[in-house]
Amino acid sequence: MITKDTIDKLLSTYDKSKISIATYCSHSALNIFHGAKEEKFKTLGICQPKEEPFYEAFQKARPDSYIRVEEPKNMLFQENQRFLTRNNAIVVPHGSFVEYVGARNLEEEFLVPMQGNRKVLAWESDREKQKQWLKEAGIKTPKEFENPDDVDRLCIVKFHGAKGGQDFFFVRSNDEFYKEMKRRKKNPEKTKPTIQEYVLGSRFYPHMHFSPLSEKGLRINDGWLEILGYDQRMESNIDELHRIGLSRQELRELSIAESFTVVGNRPIIPREKLQAKYFAIGKQIVEASQELFPPGILGPFCPETICTKDLDIYTFEISARIVAGTSMWSPNGAPEGYYIWGEPMPMGKRIAREIKMGIETGRLEDIIY
Ligand code: AMP
Repeated sequence: MITKDTIDKLLSTYDKSKISIATYCSHSALNIFHGAKEEKFKTLGICQPKEEPFYEAFQKARPDSYIRVEEPKNMLFQENQRFLTRNNAIVVPHGSFVEYVGARNLEEEFLVPMQGNRKVLAWESDREKQKQWLKEAGIKTPKEFENPDDVDRLCIVKFHGAKGGQDFFFVRSNDEFYKEMKRRKKNPEKTKPTIQEYVLGSRFYPHMHFSPLSEKGLRINDGWLEILGYDQRMESNIDELHRIGLSRQELRELSIAESFTVVGNRPIIPREKLQAKYFAIGKQIVEASQELFPPGILGPFCPETICTKDLDIYTFEISARIVAGTSMWSPNGAPEGYYIWGEPMPMGKRIAREIKMGIETGRLEDIIY
C-alpha cells in the first residue's frame, strides 16, 4: 500500500498555482472536467485514442490535453505517472477508473495524488468489507441468507463482480434457487452468490459529499456533509419488462433473462421528510468510515438505496466516489446543492471547489491521498 506519507511528500513538491485535475475519459469525466474548468483548473484526460474525437466534440467540457493509453491499465506505466506528477495533477477516481485499473493496483502502484482517501478503495471493492462498513454504520440493509435453505421470501441472487447486474435472478425458495443455479450451470460453492431479500420500493441514489473544509451542510465531527442532489438509475431491461406483461415463466420460455445494466439516469427528488432520513444515513456512513479507516470517507459518495411504502430506507451498497448519476445535474446543479451553496453545485464543480479550498487554506493534504 502506498503510504499517505509518500503522497504527502509528493504533493509538497507540487506547484500549487499550477494544479491540474485529471481523470480517465469515461463514466463522469465530462462532469469532472467541466467543473474543474469552471473553477479555473487545467484539465488532463487519460484517454483511449478511439474515444478522443468524442471528447473533443464537447468543446466546453473536453480536457485541455490528453495522455493517450491503449488500455486503461497503461496509466500505471511509469512514464504516464511521471507525466501526471510533472503536471501537478490530482486524479479524480470514478467507477470506471477503479474498475478498469483495479483497486489493488491503485493502492499499490499508482504513485499519483488522488482526490479522497485511497484507503476507501479496499472498503468499496471487497464485498465482506462493504458488509462490515454497512453493519458498523448501523443502517437498514436488506436481509441476507447465508444458507439457501433458509430462503423464505422473494430474494435477488447476485454474483460478485457481475458487471451491470448480469446474471442476477430472483428466487422465492431454496428449491427455486438450486433449480435456477443448475439451469444456469453455476456451482453455488464456486460462485458464492449473495442471496439478498428483494426490497420492494423506489430506488434513490443520493449524491453526498463529505468535507473537512467546507463549513456548509450538516456538521459531523470535524467535517461537513452535503447532499447535492439525487438520481435514479435506468436499468435495462428490468425497468421495462412490466410493459410486456409476461410472467417469469413465460419470459424464460422465450429465453428472455432479466438484466440490470445501467444505461442512464433520471432526475429524482425525494419528498421533503426523506431528506432528513438521507442525511441521517450519510452521517452514519461517514462516522463508521472514520472508525474503520481514518480519516474516513472524503469527497463524493453515494449510498444506493430503496425506499419502501412505509418510508423505510434500505441501503444495499455504497459507492465510495463520484457516481455517474451526478452527471445528470451538470452543469446547472440540483435544488439541494443550490439550497446549500446559493449557486449551481454539480458534483464535478464541487470536487474542484474542494481542491481549490484545500489550496487556499493550505490543507490540500487533508483531502488528498
Ligand atoms: P447492485 O449490483 O447490487 O448495485 O444491484 C444492481 C441492481 O439490482 C440495483 O441497481 C437494483 O435495481 C437491484 N437491486 C439490488 N439489490 C436489491 C435489493 N436487495 N432489492 C431490490 N433491488 C435490488
